[in-house]
Amino acid sequence: MADVALRKLVKRFDETVVLHGIDLEIADGEFVVLVGPSGCGKSTTLRMLAGLEEASGGEIAIDGRVVNNLEPKDRNIAMVFQNYAIYPHMTVHRNIGFGLRTSPLSKVDKDRRIRETAEILDLTPLLDRKPSQLSGGQRQRVAIGRAMVRDPAVFLFDEPLSNLDAQLRAQMRLEVKRLHQRLKSTIVFVTHDQVEAMTLADRIAIMRDGRIEQLGTPDELYARPVNTFVAQFIGSPS
Ligand code: ADP
Ligand code: MG
Repeated sequence: MADVALRKLVKRFDETVVLHGIDLEIADGEFVVLVGPSGCGKSTTLRMLAGLEEASGGEIAIDGRVVNNLEPKDRNIAMVFQNYAIYPHMTVHRNIGFGLRTSPLSKVDKDRRIRETAEILDLTPLLDRKPSQLSGGQRQRVAIGRAMVRDPAVFLFDEPLSNLDAQLRAQMRLEVKRLHQRLKSTIVFVTHDQVEAMTLADRIAIMRDGRIEQLGTPDELYARPVNTFVAQFIGSPS
């Protein structure tokens, strides 16, 4: 478990500034949702947190330690993408175990971790199945399992539910919420869906053009949006 801090975080691609100095403090165990229109910098923020993009300026700290110069694998962070790739030729057990491929754990300890993870995600009866024998929601849980098996301090989700149909989406929303309640992990979750944001978040950061327009609980944003952009995004009657 860990807290996360972004301090004056800047990202430039060549001459173009896509993040203009983001400040965001996330408490240990908090569920923070980043929302905003396409292109506002949500994925870039997550990718920098994960170490997949270098920061052009500012600091990223996890558990009080500045991680800007750490490799992704040393950041104790797991990321679940929209186009989660699980391997069709591998069983659920091996797909989850793939998350431990660089781990120094013994084979026995890896197997224990895989089984504990499967248990939390209700995948135990499915460990010997191949992805083609699973439902969409079960496959998504396998992808989450592969991230979870390393016991990361922080989970990053980048629109993980966007490709699912409405019914599965609603179901997965509940699953993610349940997972958070169970693991008490720190989560940063990106979406452009305000219903998802309102139902999942402890706090929401509304982003526009590489800046955070407003940060607050769903109730705060709904009751006291700072401007019409936030009001419209949240759907409050201002
Ligand atoms: P979001 O996830 O909110 O839709 P992104 O973080 O993906 O937005 O992108 C933010 C901005 O940065 C966009 O204008 C996008 O075109 C630009 N961008 C993202 N990645 C790159 C890249 N590798 N090279 C150049 N520009 C990029
Ligand atoms: Mg994105």
